[in-house]
Amino acid sequence: MDEMKEKLLRQQKNGYDLLDTQERIAVEDYCRGYMTYLNNARIEREAVSEAIKLAEAAGFEPLAEGRGPIRPGQKVYYSNRGKSLILAVGGKKSLSAGCVIGAAHVDSPRLDLKPSPLYEDSELAYLRTHYYGGIKKYQWTAIPLELHGVVALKDGTSVPVAIGREPDDPQFVVTDLLPHLGADQMAKTGAKLIEGEKLCLLAGSVPYAGEGGDRVKLAVMSILNDRYGITEDDFISAELEVVPAFEVRELGLDRSLIGGYGQDDRVCAYAELEAILETEAPERTAVCILADKEEIGSYGVTGMQSCAFEHFMETIIGGECSVQTCFSHSFCVSADVTAALDPLYAEVSEKQNAARVNYGVGFCKYTGARGKSGASDATAELVAYLRRICDEAGVLWQMSELGKVDQGGGGTVAMFMAQRDIDTIDAGVPVLSMHAPYETTSKLDCYMTYKCMKAAYNAEG
Ligand code: MN
Ligand code: MN
Repeated sequence: MDEMKEKLLRQQKNGYDLLDTQERIAVEDYCRGYMTYLNNARIEREAVSEAIKLAEAAGFEPLAEGRGPIRPGQKVYYSNRGKSLILAVGGKKSLSAGCVIGAAHVDSPRLDLKPSPLYEDSELAYLRTHYYGGIKKYQWTAIPLELHGVVALKDGTSVPVAIGREPDDPQFVVTDLLPHLGADQMAKTGAKLIEGEKLCLLAGSVPYAGEGGDRVKLAVMSILNDRYGITEDDFISAELEVVPAFEVRELGLDRSLIGGYGQDDRVCAYAELEAILETEAPERTAVCILADKEEIGSYGVTGMQSCAFEHFMETIIGGECSVQTCFSHSFCVSADVTAALDPLYAEVSEKQNAARVNYGVGFCKYTGARGKSGASDATAELVAYLRRICDEAGVLWQMSELGKVDQGGGGTVAMFMAQRDIDTIDAGVPVLSMHAPYETTSKLDCYMTYKCMKAAYNAEG
């Protein structure tokens, strides 16, 4: 009977029962690089600039227009306004045979400063925010926060801002009510516990010397002016993002897990990036996308719905075929995180189809909500293809469904790739506490997602 079971029934094993010593070392090596990247990439702009540093060190050059089709082994990158990035390695085959695309995103849920953020109340200075992406607002109070981004000036120059990262930098906080006075607050539902307009950053408390109102506000503005040369008007053309100040750390006594902010989806972005940096001369041209704006619907000039992607593809195709012909023969892994089964909240998952920590990269045939609405829903043939190339490359993988039927749902960039007539499937790292200021992944799953991307880029056919 055991033989029949082995032959006929699906066998799922914990990844640690399958890894040999050599591969365990590879997992640790890979994750050290990932943790460094994640620590340095607090916002999408930094995720892009850090990726460019790694790409240039690996021989990638900025994409130039009008140079004809990409040559086999040629390595190029294109930064879209410093907020999203596309890289490619030329394949042996013509682009009319399609390309292999990895599409992850590097924006994460956060608090953005409003265009006019600074105010004073009761002799305390605050910065007003408007949250970005799907957050539980109560998670953002009473934790250390940093401020990153740029202030664009009217003269065309930009001032980069990063406050809170260096050990001697000050940090910020959104205060919360003490439990002693929290009776009314605690009676509210979770969604109303902290109102969006209460997500204001405490920015200072010392008044500017002299008489009159707004002296603390003035003192804060004076510090910003000393440090960055900006005035209150310049906030209007700034993108300043408030992000958690937590260090990326190993978690658990066995150090098998990684804790850090923004792992959705920089964990898959880094997996794709490392995979393409190590790809030399693939059969089909390899393309790696680090997209922006996924968390708010992939809109905007740097989002995955933007024609910037078509423009990049047209440039590397260099007249060899139409972009549409290339797309119709292409294969895309929408590399985005999925929900890991959390035993503390097992009631929202259907165990047989939920992704589990340490079982490898999670393939997601469909996402969506309420009867798969909004899902790309990969074809059976495409899932079979991914099974084959991953099995051949020794990738540990599992199937993943985001929650029980009608429990909720989510989306990725997959539908925007599929809309372009590109065969697309979601695959990524299972995450605990996704979208929280501090997310948790497993080292083994991070590594297997990288290995999956490497298998996709280097597949023979
Ligand atoms: Mn995501
Ligand atoms: Mn997300």
